[in-house]
Amino acid sequence: MPSSQPDPAMPEAEPAEKPRIVIVATGGTIAGLAAGSQGRAYRPGALSAEALVAAVPGLAELAELRCRAVFALDSVDLDLPRQAELAAVVAAELADPGVDGVVVTHGTDTLEESAYLLHLSLTSDKPVVVVGSMHPADAVSADGPGNLLGAVRVAADPGASGLGTLVVVGQDVYTARGLRKVDTVRTAAFSGRHTALAEVVAGQVLWYARPVRSRGTFAIEDLPESLPLVELLVSRADLPTEVVAALVAGGARGIVHLGPGSGNVPAAVAAALDRARRAGVVVVRASRVAAGPVSRNGAVDDDAHDWVAAGDLSPYQARVLLALALTRTSQTGQIQQYFDTH
Ligand code: ASP
Repeated sequence: MPSSQPDPAMPEAEPAEKPRIVIVATGGTIAGLAAGSQGRAYRPGALSAEALVAAVPGLAELAELRCRAVFALDSVDLDLPRQAELAAVVAAELADPGVDGVVVTHGTDTLEESAYLLHLSLTSDKPVVVVGSMHPADAVSADGPGNLLGAVRVAADPGASGLGTLVVVGQDVYTARGLRKVDTVRTAAFSGRHTALAEVVAGQVLWYARPVRSRGTFAIEDLPESLPLVELLVSRADLPTEVVAALVAGGARGIVHLGPGSGNVPAAVAAALDRARRAGVVVVRASRVAAGPVSRNGAVDDDAHDWVAAGDLSPYQARVLLALALTRTSQTGQIQQYFDTH
């Protein structure tokens, strides 16, 4: 009969090693302090990653943690080159056999762009989790410590491997693809139509779904020093069309058009975009509506214009994908393929 008593003749089992997680800090409200902010609501990125970690009870029990600061910025200043720099740092950490996963602390304002860039440019199967908070670290109702605890718990969970870049907000675990900031003040600030993968409940990660779209296609190691310029164009019927010419003259290799409804394009703007296309600029048709797909040849004959339809990607994530796609090709057929599969 098996006995539940330990056999005194057997050596005691080694305690399971804790996963080794690197906290990569970039700034944001999660590392922000309201006190002493001298007029501003708070100073984003004021706290070190070590201080953030030290403020979360129980974190050290979950994982062996190491901190690495890349930026201490409000995420509004994380431009594409900085986001690519972040991806290179995360890729280097993931390549280290002594690292099991990475948690990136980030401002919420542009988190969806950085997270999607990581998702598209990291090839490792090790977990990567991006986390932010809406309230500064010294607020009465600081949400950062709970979010960070959840993020480390997810990064330490075996179920998180092979899923690409994840985002943790409150109890919710999302895939980076398709996620958007949808509220300027509430702590539940993120949403996406097809982004929920898991939830953290009573210290456990409960998995419900897996992402099906491709990731890691544009390995950060293979990307050029500087990424092609892609601009966003918020459209309307009386938009001065010289704006489009100015974007092209400014060196844009791609334009993501934010049209009303299903990505509709006013006639005068369409003519200007056609001129841009003839000059070699790739035009992606997205919507200014918060959710729902812009389907190819749906509201607009994309074939006739030689444009690309963004599908359900937000214009902001479409800009990231287009910038990466343009490092490979300017062929609209191939770029449409990337949009259909990523
Ligand atoms: N402005 C801040 C940032 O994105 C907002 C936040 O983190 O919630 O860095």
